[in-house]
Amino acid sequence: MTDPRRRVPRTDVVLADPRLADAAGRLGRAAVKAAVAGAQQRARAGELPPGEVADAAVRALPATAGGLATVLNATGVILHTNLGRAALSTAAREAIQAAAGHTDVELDLHTGLRARRGRGALNALRDAVPDAADVHVVNNGAAALVLAATALAAGKEIIVSRGEMVEIGDGFRLPELLESTGARLREVGTTNRTSVEDYEKTISPDTGFILKVHPSNFVVTGFTGEAAVEDLATLRVPVVADIGSGLLKPDSLLPGEPDATTSLRKGASLVTASGDKLLGGPQAGLILGDATLIERLRRHPLARALRVDKLTLAALQATLTGPETPTWQALRIDGRELKERTRRAADRLAEAGVEVTLVASKAVVGGGGAPGIELPSWSLSLPQTYGVFLRTTAPIVVGRVSRDRLLLDLRCVPPESDDQVVAAVREAARACTS
Ligand SMILES: *Cc1c(COP(=O)(O)O)cnc(C)c1O
Repeated sequence: MTDPRRRVPRTDVVLADPRLADAAGRLGRAAVKAAVAGAQQRARAGELPPGEVADAAVRALPATAGGLATVLNATGVILHTNLGRAALSTAAREAIQAAAGHTDVELDLHTGLRARRGRGALNALRDAVPDAADVHVVNNGAAALVLAATALAAGKEIIVSRGEMVEIGDGFRLPELLESTGARLREVGTTNRTSVEDYEKTISPDTGFILKVHPSNFVVTGFTGEAAVEDLATLRVPVVADIGSGLLKPDSLLPGEPDATTSLRKGASLVTASGDKLLGGPQAGLILGDATLIERLRRHPLARALRVDKLTLAALQATLTGPETPTWQALRIDGRELKERTRRAADRLAEAGVEVTLVASKAVVGGGGAPGIELPSWSLSLPQTYGVFLRTTAPIVVGRVSRDRLLLDLRCVPPESDDQVVAAVREAARACTS
């Protein structure tokens, strides 16, 4: 038998394939060459018959010329920060596409005069939370806090419980962020217990506001106590509630998760939240509440530096007014249906000779939401060694490793992509066993 290296087709030969020539026009020559080089590499390693190099290169092409790879999220983590948190709804994707050119983002087409930027998204947010007298949108949840701290408490104090001095992730610590604005933090209470009196005795003419932070990625249990927003609201200083997740109304599926409507009804002056967590929208920081305070935030010079892009505004509006988002579809998925989908995928893989089992697993909300809530789920259990191939060959599938097995949870995979997962796993099995 001839050395397979000899028989791997040359780059110019592969690039002459009409599908690849066409892709070079859309994606640029570099992207296509990279896909071809990867396929040649696999053929040289004996993982791919030389005659299939062009086919493999076509499959490995990125969907767009953009720099980010499209990923099928089989981690069972609905809001995976490393995968970009919320997957946008079709409505939001279409809105982004439509807004990509020139838009009326700051123009009233009837009068021909300048208009409030992003008023469509702002109105949609106000309609979604009628308890908010006004709303403002910035770049992300952290920006919302920075703007509130800068506009309302620079040179003054923010009173916050020692139990709420949290780190959100990747070294992002809320206290450090707040202090970077020039506000001083006044810590009160203890890690596990803080009372209204702890706050009350700290209030002075120097107080900017009281901050209530939802510890969105851990739970404290045992001998605990915290002051309720409704009690803090009686202390005659503004209460800013950082609820984190962006839940706008209470939801019985996530009973412990604070929401904007309830926080405002209980007397919070302002609520801050993220757009790309449980709201299921684009990265954004939502600020809702008292009209006078929001006006101060909006007029602060820093607001200009934190303002959002037209694409974000378009996606946010579509998220707020459109159908159920993929985030909520994944949360509410029917367990039997998920098991059935997973079993079908397992059967097809087993028929193809892949070493696979169907296992019960646990999914989580992730991304700083609903800590401690586990959603019963189902997964394909596969040899761990498939992981690298699945992460690096299109269609990209990211799973998670548990007890030396690679688990693929289809909860966050759109059902129409199940076939792609099956095909990818078959390829991985072939590549990893040859
Ligand atoms: C996620 C989170 C933030 C930060 O929001 P980003 O949108 O990631 O900037 C702040 N506070 C809480 C409680 C959070 O959960």
